[in-house]
Amino acid sequence: MAKTEGPLILDGARVARDIKERLAERVNLLAERGITPCLATILVGDDPASATYVRMKGNACERLGMESRRIQLDRSTTTEQLIAAIRELNEDSSVHGILLQHPVPHQIDERAAFDAIRIDKDVDGVTTLGFAQNAFGFAAYPSCTPAAIMAILDDYGIPIEGKHAVVVGRSPILGKPVSLMLLNRNATVTVCHSKTQGLADIVGSGDIVVAAVGKPKFIRGDWIREGAVVLDAGYNPGNVGDVDYEECLLKAAAITPVPAGVGPVTIATLLKHTVDAAERIGSA
Ligand code: NAP
Repeated sequence: MAKTEGPLILDGARVARDIKERLAERVNLLAERGITPCLATILVGDDPASATYVRMKGNACERLGMESRRIQLDRSTTTEQLIAAIRELNEDSSVHGILLQHPVPHQIDERAAFDAIRIDKDVDGVTTLGFAQNAFGFAAYPSCTPAAIMAILDDYGIPIEGKHAVVVGRSPILGKPVSLMLLNRNATVTVCHSKTQGLADIVGSGDIVVAAVGKPKFIRGDWIREGAVVLDAGYNPGNVGDVDYEECLLKAAAITPVPAGVGPVTIATLLKHTVDAAERIGSA
């Protein structure tokens, strides 16, 4: 994008509101069929940040007239016990989406637990099959944060095709899937990680930069190419992103703030996937 006056602030709160407004109509139509979209959230242990995320997701469901089923399991839960809880939700026809809050306590095999979620209820795109389908560009539910990043780009009509997208981070829920989604939209993608050499120069060659590092203010303003589009998925204590926002404002053509950037769109995307699932699965 060409940088004109000031940078365009990509207003995730507004994008999220628009998504939820469109969803409200679909929730009403489902209600007429006697179906209430239901998201089951599973929280294992008592990590305060995870508890907050789960509460925010549940509250967002309820505000939209959806049902939130909150499953709280003890910190000492075993993999087998967690999988048994997931299987129960898989079989429950009134549950349309299942979200297992990451991270789980260390004794649990998180991959096995994620993969126990039935694919048609995998609204957070965490299963191996869901990831693979998303990689192939099938209509699976992608992870919500990558989908939110794509939704923001699309909402603002930011061109992706032919652009050089630099993604910093390669986690299975964020960096990797967003890289594949950008690739599927014909961006040329470079994925960076903790062993990447010459990171600042690579970031500086990006037309689109996605920060998914988990380190506050990690991406510096002087790394950013003039006129780049910067999407900050980071959410660190104190409402601080992975991008040094003040510095990057001086270089970027468009940038997401933290808070009110990627975060609210992630939650709206989760609600959307749950409504999609309710429309597909219906109720027995
Ligand atoms: P993660 O699993 O910890 O992954 C972090 C990634 O950053 C890893 O791939 C790691 O590389 C890479 N990295 C770490 N240090 C680096 C360095 N010095 N240089 C380059 N790359 C480096 O984190 P995550 O779950 O993807 O989350 C990333 C951020 O997004 C966090 O701030 C998190 O809070 C936020 N988040 C936000 C939302 C939302 O809704 N907005 C949702 C999920 C996560 P290696 O693979 O080599 O270790």
